[in-house]
Amino acid sequence: MRGEFLRAENVTKIHPPRRWGERPLKALAGVSVTVEKGEVLGIVGESGSGKSTLARILLGLEPPTNGRVLFRGRDISRMSAMERKAFRRRVQIVFQDPESSLNPRHRVGTLVGDGLRIHQRLPSEVRERRVGELLESVGLSRGVVKRYPHQLSGGQRQRIALARALSVSPDVLLLDEPTSALDVSVQARILRLLDRLRRANDLTYVFISHDLGVVRAFCTRIIVMREGRIVEEGETVLESPRESYTRRLLDSIPRLAADR
Ligand code: ADP
Ligand code: MG
Repeated sequence: MRGEFLRAENVTKIHPPRRWGERPLKALAGVSVTVEKGEVLGIVGESGSGKSTLARILLGLEPPTNGRVLFRGRDISRMSAMERKAFRRRVQIVFQDPESSLNPRHRVGTLVGDGLRIHQRLPSEVRERRVGELLESVGLSRGVVKRYPHQLSGGQRQRIALARALSVSPDVLLLDEPTSALDVSVQARILRLLDRLRRANDLTYVFISHDLGVVRAFCTRIIVMREGRIVEEGETVLESPRESYTRRLLDSIPRLAADR
């Protein structure tokens, strides 16, 4: 199929109970979604609606209980070791909290250079040069290579997470609440950076956020999730929501509700 990159087909995910006595939890109930090349697909929905579970399954970090994930038409659970390695390179993720996604014992140079080491055999001086270029592309100076994550601000850490994800030249970037832990002014700068990086690197984004204002400004198509299901999907669901659930989500944000 032309343009289709990544697809979840009728994916169900039942999490085993976290504690003794709890029931298994159905986090996803038959979700099908296709990510097309070049789009910015927004995924919104209240907390616990299954957005992060869907992201982890699309990335192959955990298997679905039922259904399957296809990358360029290939079932990711049936890939050969080589195909799987290529898939792991082509689809990257950036999490909300770079503090927990970046190993605190590693310097920035290692954090950003890691993927290059795994996926490309480069002489160390070429790799170092590439790390410097990546840092500059996310608006940081090359001098930060010697720093540790705790010596950086939240915004700088998220830039490192981005440089790390971009180091292996992915096609698709899953962004799971990438700006939710940041101050509003920093958020705006990171969003502009994301926009610039997408154009410069010809990337496809899956942008998960509970900030509907950001999603509306940033995304070309939007999926609304509730209790593990997609309740609404389209290019204008936030301008003209059909579902009362989507309207309630919008109404919970005063600014958006006011300018509707
Ligand atoms: P969202 O990202 O939309 O807030 P999640 O995908 O994180 O939602 O969670 C969906 C549901 O699955 C929630 O009820 C959550 O508590 C549950 N859940 C998520 N991960 C696990 C897990 N590893 N084990 C058990 N339950 C989980
Ligand atoms: Mg989440």
